[in-house]
Amino acid sequence: MATGLREICHEADLCVVGGGMGGLLTAVAAARRGAKVVLMHDRPVLGGNASSEIRMWICGAGTRVRNLQETGIMEEIALDNMVRNPSRNWSLWDALLYEKARFEPNIDLILNCACSEAEMSTPDSARSTPPGPSGATPLSEGSTPVGNRIVSVAGFQSTTQTRHVVRAKIFADCSGDSILAPLTGAPFRTGREAKAEFGEEFGLPEADRRTMGSSLLIQARETDHKVEFTPPPWAYDFPDDEALNHKPHECLFKPHTNFYWIELGGEADTIADAESLRDELLKIAFGVWDHMKNHGDHGADNWELEWVGFLPGKRESRRYVGDYTLTQNDVEDGGKVFEDVVAYGGWQIDNHLPGGFRMESQGGAHLQKRRLSEPYAIPYRCLYSRDIENLMFAGRNISASHIAFASTRVMGTIGVMGQAVGTAAALAVEKGVAPRGVYEDKALLHELQRRLMDDDCFLPGLRRDVSPLARAATLTADYGDASDLLNGVDRRIWGRDNGYFGKTNCAVTYAFDTPTFVNGFRLVVDSDLDRENFDGHPDLLTIPMPLFRGLGYGNTSFTFPRTVLKRFRVEAQGADGTWETVFETADNHQRLIRGAIGRECLAIRLVPLSTWGSELKDNDYGSSTVHIFAFEPV
Ligand SMILES: Cc1cc2nc3c(=O)[nH]c(=O)nc-3n(C[C@H](O)[C@H](O)[C@H](O)COP(=O)(O)OP(=O)(O)OC[C@H]3O[C@@H](n4cnc5c(N)ncnc54)[C@H](O)[C@@H]3O)c2cc1C
Repeated sequence: MATGLREICHEADLCVVGGGMGGLLTAVAAARRGAKVVLMHDRPVLGGNASSEIRMWICGAGTRVRNLQETGIMEEIALDNMVRNPSRNWSLWDALLYEKARFEPNIDLILNCACSEAEMSTPDSARSTPPGPSGATPLSEGSTPVGNRIVSVAGFQSTTQTRHVVRAKIFADCSGDSILAPLTGAPFRTGREAKAEFGEEFGLPEADRRTMGSSLLIQARETDHKVEFTPPPWAYDFPDDEALNHKPHECLFKPHTNFYWIELGGEADTIADAESLRDELLKIAFGVWDHMKNHGDHGADNWELEWVGFLPGKRESRRYVGDYTLTQNDVEDGGKVFEDVVAYGGWQIDNHLPGGFRMESQGGAHLQKRRLSEPYAIPYRCLYSRDIENLMFAGRNISASHIAFASTRVMGTIGVMGQAVGTAAALAVEKGVAPRGVYEDKALLHELQRRLMDDDCFLPGLRRDVSPLARAATLTADYGDASDLLNGVDRRIWGRDNGYFGKTNCAVTYAFDTPTFVNGFRLVVDSDLDRENFDGHPDLLTIPMPLFRGLGYGNTSFTFPRTVLKRFRVEAQGADGTWETVFETADNHQRLIRGAIGRECLAIRLVPLSTWGSELKDNDYGSSTVHIFAFEPV
């Protein structure tokens, strides 16, 4: 195979294919939990649709339901971006995502490398593939596994003309398009299910193969002078609003929207037809900008086209079949308990019609929208293949019906799935089991959930196990009641604040009866999950990276959440009664902070010194208020 090409072989515990938000977080989570990871990604920048190549902003459960912003690695990235990229520059965003993978010691990052081959173990004839339920969307080409275990995958790196072969114990397909489905025979679905299959309200009378379409985005900025625009001669002409089917185009004045309806492909094949769809989308995109500038008064005289995406973002293609398929009913029943919850969603059901741009509809391309009032659980069984024993997935390709996918597809939700898959893969490798083994062994499943919550992931219905050391000690606070620090819930939810309101320079102390060895501490501070306590354009506070930059918006940049504890120290009291500083920082910007102590202590205490808000005069947060969700010895 591929004789004449240079070939490099890699060995890993986990190989992640595709570096969108799902793949990136899968890789980072697994690596931080000790797995050796190869991340093979076919683009030069990470983030998939959230990268500068496509420029879609990350939404999640918290965009629609209060206090539900994703935490864990997603929040770490969001806070890093706010502090390091206040003007929201796309290249700095790319650099941040690149850094998370490139400088993580356990990740071997292979960029510009498209996975195109998989080697399977010998087919296991003893294992038969159960037929799909009657009325199901037909499972496509991949319904006959060519072996039930992936041995290796290979990809071509165009920059070096090298074939990279990766042998791994577990593979996570985070390519969006599920490239490992045609390569391995893993079962998958495409299209929209019939109502009869899962009893979904939004299901169709009959299943079909149509999907949501792909879109390319436009970015523009306002200047202080008139800017002319001459469209390329091949752009479509939209002489009036009727020619655009009256699609909404007020995004120059509503910065939290964009031309998302430049969308095609739902009636075609978003994979096989991707190149011709791109050509059509470009004609539409330049035509739309021509319409804005030259056909009618759209307030665009001083606006300059800054960027047009030449790589359309895909909304939908293949979805894998796992041990469980998430449905509309699961998504709408936020109270439904899954013993194997490992992630959650909360974005509305946001279903686009296949017709996309061509639809004669005024309101964009939406078929159904339904807001959810509660987060819903995503079970672990949606994240690994039913038939390929070492294949997992995180992204828009998880095991979900079309309607459930219409909610799970946003990148905040995909990020927390990625953290779950990475953490589970590392656990499976550590314990020598297949991904399904983590579900089947309830002790392992509990351990997975414990690790996720310890890493600041929120799992609906579950409480984090507070450390035994904290339980054994006596907790006191110089100011107020700190008892909620021990309730195992690290965010405002379920009608409770779940945090501790303290004051700067007032310590929170754990005292032990006898000298006790303390490894370290775990601290979770309030990072303002609702994004209320920082400054910026009100419509842009929950949008990490906006597209349109108008002079009239005032400022498209943001400050930093005032609630975050910036300066603090942790002190330990030795057996002789003296206090010593064991951890000190003057510029924390993270929500989850862990520090080492590594000694026998009679007590440890947190001394908060300032928040990002206490440096501002007259701020509405209170100059000496400190709000934390967890602090404990571990
Ligand atoms: C126009 C548009 C608007 C949207 N609006 C929003 C929004 O406002 N907020 C939101 O959160 N979500 C939005 N979404 C949905 C969201 O962007 C996608 O559902 C999400 O990006 C899917 O994430 P993913 O990680 O599965 O895939 P992707 O983001 O597509 O990432 C997968 C990556 O894998 C790479 N890859 C593919 N094949 C291979 C291969 N063979 N080898 C190696 N690498 C490969 C791809 O290049 C890609 O970068 C939108 C989508 C579109 C198209």
